[in-house]
Amino acid sequence: MEGDGSGMQPSPEEEAEAQRKNCIFCHIISGQVQSKRIYEDESCVGILDINPANPGHVLLLPREHHAIMPQMADPDVRHLFVAAKAISASLLKALGAEGTDIFVANGTTAGQKAPHVMIHIIPRKKGDGIAAFDAKPKKAAPAELAAIAARLRPHAYRMMGKEPPAEKALGEAASPVPPQPTTMDAEFTEEKDTSDGMDGKDRKDGKGDDATVGLDDIAKVLFR
Ligand SMILES: [Zn+2]
Repeated sequence: MEGDGSGMQPSPEEEAEAQRKNCIFCHIISGQVQSKRIYEDESCVGILDINPANPGHVLLLPREHHAIMPQMADPDVRHLFVAAKAISASLLKALGAEGTDIFVANGTTAGQKAPHVMIHIIPRKKGDGIAAFDAKPKKAAPAELAAIAARLRPHAYRMMGKEPPAEKALGEAASPVPPQPTTMDAEFTEEKDTSDGMDGKDRKDGKGDDATVGLDDIAKVLFR
């Protein structure tokens, strides 16, 4: 490899340096700008959001400047989410949160406010009035779902370094799956028909009479 360090055109290093100079979160990470740190290690820094959605709202930042998550190296993404998991557990234990919202906004269209990757970890309590992810579920025709899946799937496999499976194999794999609720339905539907898609034989907990598990229940199980 030639040209790293002393080239005439700006190297990726130099471009990154220029971005860092204008990035408030890089200044926070370097310590030039004050923050309340709740965790840091060799590759990430967790701080309290100064305008929290709830008390204890954490911003978890990779030390390395990247504008959006897809630009990050895989090991750094992995580490960041492992740290997010630990901070989420800490919010439940230390602050009595009953759940957490964990999200990343990639791009201003998605609500990103500053061009430095961050994971928001927001402690939640019943009745806190936050609609952190208040997308209204929309109807989607099966043909539309199929068209979107066909377009998206090959990219997803290739981005993971795999060859997409053949159409026939996909059709066979997809057909036995019953209609699924959207993520939003799954999260916010309080009373779920337990006969729908869950026949009991795959359960690991052996309880069997109620498939509805709320965040409170999970927190109780894990943090007694
Ligand atoms: Zn930055």
